[in-house]
Formats: sequence, structure tokens, C-alpha cells
Amino acid sequence: MASESVRGAWFPPGSSRKVEATVARTANGDLVVVAGQAVLARAAPSEIEFSARVGSIPRRLAFPNGSLFETADNDGIDRLSGSAGAVHELERFRPRLFVFAAIVVGLCFLIYRFAVPTMVELAVAITPPVVPQLMSQGALASLDETLLAQSELPEARQTAIREGFNQLAGLSPRGADGYVLHFRKGGSIGPNAFALPDGSIVLTDELVTLAPGQDAVLGVLAHEIGHVEREHSLRQLYRAAGIAALIMLIGGDIGSGAEDILVQGSALVGLSYSRSQEAEADRSSVELMLKAGRDPAAIVGFLEIVRDRLEKTQGSDFFSTHPATQQRIEAVKTYAEELAKR
Ligand SMILES: [Zn+2]
Repeated sequence: MASESVRGAWFPPGSSRKVEATVARTANGDLVVVAGQAVLARAAPSEIEFSARVGSIPRRLAFPNGSLFETADNDGIDRLSGSAGAVHELERFRPRLFVFAAIVVGLCFLIYRFAVPTMVELAVAITPPVVPQLMSQGALASLDETLLAQSELPEARQTAIREGFNQLAGLSPRGADGYVLHFRKGGSIGPNAFALPDGSIVLTDELVTLAPGQDAVLGVLAHEIGHVEREHSLRQLYRAAGIAALIMLIGGDIGSGAEDILVQGSALVGLSYSRSQEAEADRSSVELMLKAGRDPAAIVGFLEIVRDRLEKTQGSDFFSTHPATQQRIEAVKTYAEELAKR
């Protein structure tokens, strides 16, 4: 029998009768509970359940025969349990648990930060053209049923804008065939212009009325052409669906969030672009308008109205989905001047 023993109390199986006893390690490594000459329990450390070491709370050793040994001598138990002790396993596992948790959190962040954008790029790259076409047709049809009405803009005005638009579209990489301009009365979505992924661009009467002139309208349309050229709406759509899927994956909720986003027309309209996407579309507007021999900074005339009205409006009109900051206006002006000098 080993020289070191730990004093404590032993409880017979299913009993609260306390027996003063000691536990010690035998020559073959077993732990044995002894009171006087009587052996009360004996087992290999691997068969004994050690309660975890928590502060100075008494430790409990549960023996396979159902009896318990309890002691306040934590250090003694740690020495006795040795390398085979379950306690040491636990103690060593605790820092590993933190590392594991940190890795999981980090992984989630990495998925959000890098995997989602990568998946989005991949999805955009492999999307056959028929998908944005179907999505856009469905979206426009449902918008026509719900929010939009037939345009009341005079025919001559429509024709003039359409001619300007066709010129701009013809100068863009996709070409005039890649775009269809739709005039609509915006109703509840008010002054608005938005591009669907297939190149359909919707322009509301309210926006035309609000704009300071035809070039400002064309500047906005050139901006929308920029969104289509860079496939911004498809990207944002996939991103929103991807994040919804990610949340579903983490939450284990088999909802239809991602599907809703992909199918509902309103999602396409309410979709807001990132600041960098807006900046890209603004630069497209400047470039395209300049190519067309028009005022490259024409969109500024419209952005200034948007900026001034920003505080007064709410909802999903052009103002909320295309936040016009002073910074954006300055950026357009600077870029227009820069290009004009070349
Ligand atoms: Zn935009």
C-alpha cells in the first residue's frame, strides 16, 4: 500500500451514513478506501468518477460499487489520481475548451467576412443568364400588381428620355440590347429608379418630375446602368440570401428566409447597395455621361435634391436605398473634373 493517504468520509452505496476513512494508492495503482483494517471500496482510477476541482468545494470520488468518498483535501486527491485521473483530464481540457470556443467564433467571423463574399462571387459567376431574367420578370410582375402603376408621363417626355437612355446603354459594355427601360408611376415608392439584375431599369414619374432637368434623369439612369454592369443587385441578393442561410444554419431553423429573399419582388426594390457599390455606380454615371457628350456631373443635380430631402423622407424610396451624402456629391464632382481634364 502506498505511503500517502488522504483522509475523508466514505458513504456506502445509497446511504448517507458517514464512515471516517482514508483513500490511498496501492502498488498496482488502484485506489482503495480503508477504515481501520476494513477495505470499503477499491477500483482503478479510470473506473472512478472524480468530481471536478472547483475552489475549495469538497471532492467526491464515485466508486463503481456505488459508494462515495468525500474529502476537502483537493491537493491530496490530485496527487492520488495521478496521470490516469479524470480530474487531470478535465483540468487540461478547460483551456482547450476556451481555445475551441475561440476557434468557432473566429470561424463564424471568417465565414461571414470571406466565405460569404467568395460564395457570392462564385454564385454570380455560375448563374446562367436565364436566372436573373426569370427573377427580374417575376419581380417586375409582382411590383406591377402591388406597388407600381402605368406611367402618366407625356409620350413626348418618355420618348426624349428613352432616346437619351438608349444612347447611354449603347455606350455601356452590355450594349443597348442589354437594357430595357420601364416607365412607371411609383405610387408608394415615390421618386425612384432601380435596376433589376437582367438589365430592366424602372424609372418612376415622380423621379422625372423631381429631377431638375433631363440630364439629371439620365445621370441617374447611367448610375443604374452602372449597377447592372457590375451585377450589384445580383450580388446583394445572393449576399442577403447567403446570410439568411448562414443564420438558418447556425440557428438550425429550417425556414424559408433565403427562398423568400430570392423570390419576392419587394426584396429587389428594398435592397440597398453598399457604399462602395454606390461609389462605383456614381463613377459609371460620370464616365457614361461624358462618353455620351453630356454633363458628366449631371447626377449631382439630383443628388443635391436627395440630400436636401433626406431628413424629410422615410420608407423605401430612392432616398433611403441611395443615401446621398455631401461626400458622395463631392466625389462625383471631383471625378467628373478629373475625367474632363484628360
Ligand atoms: Zn445606386
